Amino acid sequence: HFHAAVGAVRSAVCVFWSRGDGVPCAVYSESRCQGIRWEQVGNIPAAGYAHWKGQVLTAEELNVLYEGIKLNKVNHYDYILTGYSRDTSFLEMVVDIIQELKKANPSLVYVCDPVMGDHGAMYVPENLLPVYKNKVVPLADILTPNQFEAELLTGKKINTEKDGVEVMDLLHKMGPDTVVLTSTDLPSKNGDQFLVALGSQKIVKPDGTNSSQKICIDIPKVDAVFVGTGDLFAAMLLAWTHHHPNDLKTACEKTVSVMHHVIKRTITHARELAGPGNRPSPAQLELRMVQSKADIENPATVVEAKVL
Ligand code: ADP
Ligand code: ZN
Repeated sequence: HFHAAVGAVRSAVCVFWSRGDGVPCAVYSESRCQGIRWEQVGNIPAAGYAHWKGQVLTAEELNVLYEGIKLNKVNHYDYILTGYSRDTSFLEMVVDIIQELKKANPSLVYVCDPVMGDHGAMYVPENLLPVYKNKVVPLADILTPNQFEAELLTGKKINTEKDGVEVMDLLHKMGPDTVVLTSTDLPSKNGDQFLVALGSQKIVKPDGTNSSQKICIDIPKVDAVFVGTGDLFAAMLLAWTHHHPNDLKTACEKTVSVMHHVIKRTITHARELAGPGNRPSPAQLELRMVQSKADIENPATVVEAKVL
């Protein structure tokens, strides 16, 4: 028995579950290279916090909210961004609503973060995969899977940069014109202190034929686990592709630069709070969003993407 709840404060998503006896249970361990990770309990792993509160919004409740929006005639949107969902009927309702919103505004851009799992494990029910594949991804204009999610969606493993490029082309064929693999295990030319992101944007050339801009970007790794970074990445990509709709290289450089500034401010602050020799706790690692307002609005570019 479990419930998912959307945290209102900063739209982070949390999972809470209980045993059949009603006792909330969460198991975590210090494992691998990155501090505290949550372990799987049955098929349900967890997401960063020790405690979860709140209610799950059902598909029908979502629909009721949407009906209200329609009645008030405020159903004109330029962008829609979706993230974590763990229920097929909710996801199908999202699809219905986005289809309608696209009719109301044909230039609406749908940014989809197909949150399903990480590092080889799914943390949503497996029956979400076909819904993403067949219904959600075909509607998406911008897609931000991590490596594992991209592999799930295409059925193709990514072992080399060439595989990554092929996977992004397969994802283009499924729908979205812009695809960013937000993090991969591909080796970086700068060494193992970097993680690699890949991006691809379809472009229509003046003669009417299709091509694409493909980029690769190295992200300096920080030895800590953050909550909400995936959400921030998708939100920043939305914002920067709005400013640079035909220039994925610039949009990704600005997105990753924002990530860098926020993470750097966060880890510096967390280490101060924790004191020398201590690992910062999850609470100390809360993203320093408000303090990063100026960097979010106008990030100094600290990374250059390579055009492939
Ligand atoms: P996902 O697993 O969906 O890629 P993450 O939150 O792991 O989501 O990563 C999203 C982005 O957040 C990465 O592209 C990177 O920019 C940033 N990020 C997350 N964790 C770290 C970290 N430990 N060090 C540096 N950057 C990170
Ligand atoms: Zn993600």
